Parts: sequence; C-alpha cells; structure tokens
Amino acid sequence: MANYTPMIQQYLSVKAQAKDSFLFFRLGDFYEMFFDDAILASKELEITLTGRDGGTSEKIPMCGVPYHSAENYIQRLIEKGYKVAICEQVEDPATAKGVVRREIVRVVTPGTIMEGKTVAEHTNNYILCVTEQGGNMALVVCDLSTGELYVTSAPANKEWLRDEIGLYDPSEIIGDAELLEWIKSQASTIGKPVVYTPWDRGKEETGRKQFGEAAWLRLEPERQQGISLLVGYLSETQKRSLGQLTKITAYEPEQYMILDPFTRRNLELVETVRERSKKGSLLWLLDKTETSMGARLLRRWVDKPLLQRSKIEERLEAVDALHRDFILREDLRILLGEIYDLERLTGRIAFGSANGRDLIALKSSLRQAPALKQLCATSASDTLHKIAASIDICEDLAEMIETSIADEPPISLRDGGIIKKGFHAHLDELREAGMNGKRWIAELEVSERKLTGIKSLKIGYNKVFGYYIEVTKANLSMLPEGRYERKQTLANAERYVTPELKEKERLILEAEEQMVDLEYALFQEVREKIAAEITRLQSLAERIAEIDVYRSLAVVASDGKFVRPVLSEGYDMVIEQGRHPVVESVLNDAAFIANGTDLRKDAASILLITGPNMAGKSTYMRQVALISILAQIGSFVPAGKAEIPLIDRIFTRIGAADDLIGGQSTFMVEMADIQIMTEKATPRSLIIIDELGRGTSTSEGMAIAQAVIEYVHDHIGCKALVSTHFHELAMLEKSLANLHNYSMAVQESGDKVHFLRKLIPGAADSSYGIYCARLAGLPEGIIDRAYGLLQGFELSAAEAAAAQQEDHDASVTGNRGTNGASLGMSRQHTSEDVKSVVSSQQAFADRNGI
Ligand code: ADP
Repeated sequence: MANYTPMIQQYLSVKAQAKDSFLFFRLGDFYEMFFDDAILASKELEITLTGRDGGTSEKIPMCGVPYHSAENYIQRLIEKGYKVAICEQVEDPATAKGVVRREIVRVVTPGTIMEGKTVAEHTNNYILCVTEQGGNMALVVCDLSTGELYVTSAPANKEWLRDEIGLYDPSEIIGDAELLEWIKSQASTIGKPVVYTPWDRGKEETGRKQFGEAAWLRLEPERQQGISLLVGYLSETQKRSLGQLTKITAYEPEQYMILDPFTRRNLELVETVRERSKKGSLLWLLDKTETSMGARLLRRWVDKPLLQRSKIEERLEAVDALHRDFILREDLRILLGEIYDLERLTGRIAFGSANGRDLIALKSSLRQAPALKQLCATSASDTLHKIAASIDICEDLAEMIETSIADEPPISLRDGGIIKKGFHAHLDELREAGMNGKRWIAELEVSERKLTGIKSLKIGYNKVFGYYIEVTKANLSMLPEGRYERKQTLANAERYVTPELKEKERLILEAEEQMVDLEYALFQEVREKIAAEITRLQSLAERIAEIDVYRSLAVVASDGKFVRPVLSEGYDMVIEQGRHPVVESVLNDAAFIANGTDLRKDAASILLITGPNMAGKSTYMRQVALISILAQIGSFVPAGKAEIPLIDRIFTRIGAADDLIGGQSTFMVEMADIQIMTEKATPRSLIIIDELGRGTSTSEGMAIAQAVIEYVHDHIGCKALVSTHFHELAMLEKSLANLHNYSMAVQESGDKVHFLRKLIPGAADSSYGIYCARLAGLPEGIIDRAYGLLQGFELSAAEAAAAQQEDHDASVTGNRGTNGASLGMSRQHTSEDVKSVVSSQQAFADRNGI
C-alpha cells in the first residue's frame, strides 16, 4: 500500500467498503475503475482496458465511463446481477488540499435501482429480506420505487418461505445467510436471477423511526427484525432518506389461497411455461388496465386469491356494477388513460430524484382525480362509493405545482426554465435583468453596424469566449482603431470585445447563474413540500389502482362473456358451461367447447378422466382450477353459471411441463409433490393430477396411481380431478363411492378421428391407442398381437375387480388386507405402502437435490 500514490491509496480504502460492488470512482468527468473491477468491467461493458501509473512498477489496470452517460453503464451492470457503488468527490477540487475527499454516495443494486429498464413499468421490482427468530420465519417485501412494503411470517418452514418468495419474482434477497443458501438451492422456483446478500445489520430504532411507534408495536418480533434489517440495508446502500417508505402492510399467510410455485407455473397464472412470457398467461388475459399501478395491483391479486368471502364479494360487487355499465367503463378508461404512474412519481419525489417533468406529470394526473371521484360516487356500486369517499383529490398539491412549475420544463434541473413567471419576485427580477442585458446586446449589434458601416457585423456567444463582435476578414479595414480588443481569430473572420460588452456580459452571466441556482433551490423547496404529503399521494394512487383493476376485470368479463360466480362456504362446486378463458381467447376460428363440472360432497368429489392424448383432458382440469382462482380474486368466471366453494389451496401435478427434466427425475418430482399434497391437503383443497403415475413401469405406476387416488378419497376427502392413461383404473369407480369416471368424447369415422372435446360420463374406450397405432400405419401383425394382449389384460383386470372391491371395503373400515390381487398386478399396494414408497422417494429426492 505504501508504494501507491495517495489517490490510489484513497481508492483502495473506499473500495474496502464496497467489496461486493463495482466501485465507480469519480475522477473529473469520468468514473474510473481499477484493478480487478477494471478487468471485469471492461469485459462486461465492452470498454477499453488501459493502465495508470499508481506508484508501483507495473501499471494499474483501469477503465472508465464518462459521468454523463454513467447511468446507462450502471444499468447494464445491474441487469447482469452486479452492484455498483458510486463514489463522488465531496469537496471542491479548487479549494481542496491534497487529494480531493471522496465518498460512496449510493450503492445501486438490482433490488434498489429506481430508474431505467430494470424497473419495468407494469411490474414491481422487489427486494426481499428473510430472517428467522424465535422459531418463526419472517419475509419482508419492498419495492423502493413505489414505496410498498409488505411483511408476513409463519412458524419456521422453508417450503412455506420458498413458496411465498416465489410470488414476488424478486431481484434481490438479503438476510439470514443460512436461509439464503437454502433459497439459492431452490432457485428454479424463484424466477429471474437473483442477487443474494447475507445481511445482519439493522438497528431496531431505524425501523421504528421509519414507520412510527404505533405501527411498530403491532408487529411480532421476527417481523420487526426483518424490517429493521431491510431498512438498515436500504439506508446503508442508498445513503439518503427513505421518505417513500411510509406504511407497513402486514398479512397472514392464511388470508390467501395457497398456490405453490409449481402450481402457479402449471396453471400459467402470470407467465407461460414454455416461453416464460406474460402473453398467453391468465394475467395477460385479465390485464386491460390503463395505468401501471393498476397493472401491478392486478398481478398482486392474481398472485393472492382471497379466502374471505366478504372481501371477495366486495370486489365482485364493483366488477358487477362496472360490467353492467358500459358508459361508466368508457368514462373511466378515458380518465385513467390520463394518469401517470403516481406510485413511481411519488417514489422519485420522496427519493429526491424527480425533475420538473415528473411534477408536471403529477399535476396532470391529479387533475383527473375530481372527475374520477365523482364517477365512483355516482356509480351503482357500494364498493366504488366507499372508494370515492376515501379519495383525497390533493387539489392543493396540483395547485402548488400549477403556480410554481413551468408548463413545459426541461429535463435538466441545472439549466433554469423550471419555475413559472410570477412565482417568485426576485427570480422575476433576475430574469428581467437578464432579458434587459440581452436586449442591450441586440441593440449593440445595430449600433455597431451603424458605427462601422459593416452590414455583416454580428454579435455572438459561445461558452468559452463569451460574447464577441464578429467581423469578416474582408471588412477588417473598416474597423476604427483602438476601440476593439481582439479575442479570437477564425479562418475568415476575427472576433473582438469591447470593455462595455465585457461588463454587460459579466452582469448577464451573473444574473443567469443566480437565476439557475435560485430556480434549483425553489424547485427543491416545492419538491420537498410535496414529499411531505407523500402518504396522501400514495393512498390516492392505491385507490386509482383499485378502480383500474375493477374496470379491467369488468371489461374482461364483458368481452369474454363471463358470469358472476356465486360463492359458498360449503363444499360443492357446480359449474355449467365452463370454459378455459385463455385457451378460448386464443382459439381463432374454432369454437371452444364448454364443459360442466359437478363436484359434491359424499357423491362425486373425484373425477377420473380418461381419453386419448390431445382430447382436452388437461385443458379441462386447468379450467376448473382457473375458474376457482378467478372467483377468489373477485373476477367473473368463464361459465354459464358457477357455484364456487372457497378453496384453501390448489395442488397440481401436471406432467407435461416437467418432461423437459426427463424420465426418472420426473417421477421423483411427481412423488415429492404428491408427498406434500398428502401432508397439506384439507377437505377444502382442490387437487389436479394430470397423467398420474407415469415415468415408472406400468404396473408400478398404476399401483401408485391407484393408491394415491384411494388415499385422496378415503383420507383427504377433497375435490380432485385426475387424468390417467391407465384405463384399467376406471375399475376404481366400483370400489370408491365418490369417484366417478369421465372421458373426453372422440368420434371415429373411417380413418379419421375427431376430438369432440366434450366431457362425458364413463371411461374411454381403452383400445383407442391401438386404433391410433393402426392409423399410424403399424404392420397388421403388431396390431393383431396388441389386441390379443389387451384382451388378456382386460380379462385379468375383470377378475381382479371383485377382489379389489372386497379389499377396498375392508380398508375403509380400517381393516385393509395387504395381499389381494389387483388389476393384473402381482401384489396389491396399500395406502400405507404407498406412504412409505412416497417418503423413501422423498428422501431420495432430497438427497439428490430434486
Ligand atoms: P390432453 O390433455 O387430453 O392431451 P389438451 O387438454 O392438451 O389435451 O388439449 C389439446 C388441445 O385441444 C388444446 O391445446 C386446445 O387447443 C384444444 N382444446 C382442448 N379443450 C378444448 C375445448 N374444450 N374446446 C376446444 N378446443 C379444446
């Protein structure tokens, strides 16, 4: 260290405070990077690596970016998952003694970046904090750009934490090092790449001060700890006030329907399985919002379907009123379309990064508030009335901006032109002085032309030389002696100044400098005044987002011919003419075939669905899950009529998406999922299993499938839809009272097969597969042999059925035999056997990190 120059020594001591970040070290007009930072940054940013003498024999690797375009480079590094610490000169180089003092003024991280592409308009950019205390785990979720902060906790349970994290698609997770390690190992369930920072620093007072005593005391210790850690991290990286964080929204996991990451993915709630794009997902279908705030709120609703009936009814009531009233929907659309992203605007205002245009955007948004309030107040909906009553139109703030900020201010805060005339007397005086000076100069041009007789004489200005009188070389002889002082020589002209021009210039520039400084100060004053009212703006933004979402759901209901679901606290689910909303919307010419669903307690709670590939089985099963979810977020549903019980959790086990993982591990994943299902499902859950038991040998797969179905039937008693290609399982209808066989109808005519996509009672014709094989042109010999074998299998299956019935009856009364023959298999597996298979598979899966 001793050999390094003082500047490099300073660099190294600052770098020591930001080991996990790129250090952007300000040197004049550049941010420079040195040593390893420089080598890596030159690769990542494709900029030239150079060297600098630093006191040692070898040059120090260095690269840099101009400060005025730094934002772009910072964003690129953030997108690649890095952090960037920005180190500025914090004293005036002109007056500094020795090396100019430099400090880190902000650390930009993926979870705290406030601007640019990373902060996509319609999505939140979340930073999460996880912690554990006193046997409980807490999760804190924050979007610094909008000021949202949520917290929840539960008795320590990693799977719960993982599922909850999966909802947020975070960019960054901080907190308990051990938990972070585990979460990292589960990365595939989380979404986009995440930056992890172990973090254990955060004083309790910091959180308490940020949110106030009253809010603080209501929090459990683990939640307080999580919030303190997060606020500690944010203050340490942002190094400025976090004025946008005004409110803690605490929630309990039990308030919402539980959807694990696999289920959310299988059902394509917010993105599709294959392209991982929003297009084609349920959210995509539902999103007819006009504002970014609305789009983000809708996503939160889709992520968290409600369980409390009164809350759902409140939402449905608003959607219903808007659904009936086309004109109101249109009026709202026009108003909402004029509203900017209030949440992010207020975020920037509090953060101190809003410019003049942001304030104008705020003003024009606020101008829509009175009409919006009025429309809601006069609507037919109680829910909208309540929202109207709670809307504060913030007229005083709109007025404040109206009187202070120019209608079309520049982006820059340092060039003047932001503050309106008439707002500040001294500013107006300075402007007048400036204007007078310029007028004087314009007049000078005229008088100098007269004096010299040179018509082409002109007065100009540039940043380096200031004001000058320019005369072309051809006219130089006409200039009187001694009056002009030469300033600059050009190819075909000379530039001059006079003492009086210099004096005027000084006055003009002084006034301008004063003006710009004053404007900046006045602007900051206005911005701070608005920042002091941030909670009012945030709550207005929330109201607007909610109205936007109701309108969006009403538009979708109307476009898609949805109906209002009838919610019940009971068990039965009765859907008439149900449709899969997304598949229906993308079927171009073909009509979607509607199918009913009738699941009842102690009658038909399990549907076993058979039918060939492509018949529509999985579409049907997903449709039932989506209708439940839609109903519980407060949306209308794609059906003719729907009675929907409140579902506490949906489990899905859908093969196709995991085919990518391949053979054996697909089976392991399936078994691990089933294990969780057997442990967590309640009678109020909905289970969907597509192609149960594939990925292992036929007899084993069939055995497990049967045992799982029996377990669901006998021990869980929840609603379940199960599709299978084991046609033999249809026999279960005889032994399981609440299981009913259904199939997807297929019409064969000649050598053509027509999928009718109609769900009909009864099992599918099992020889269909062989029929298909014939259509595909397999040799007749193979086809005949296959038919022969099939007959043999069916015979033994029929024989087994009787024993099977006896066996099951015994099991329901708690006395199941263990060695009954079944379905042509050598040994009948019992529920207990399956449990042990499942748990040993789970152990295997755990060991192998599946
Ligand atoms: P399976 O699960 O039986 O293999 P899918 O549910 O994947 O079949 O359906 C195959 C395709 O059939 C879907 O991609 C969809 O385009 C179409 N489809 C499914 N159900 C319907 C329906 N009810 N009406 C119209 N088309 C449907």
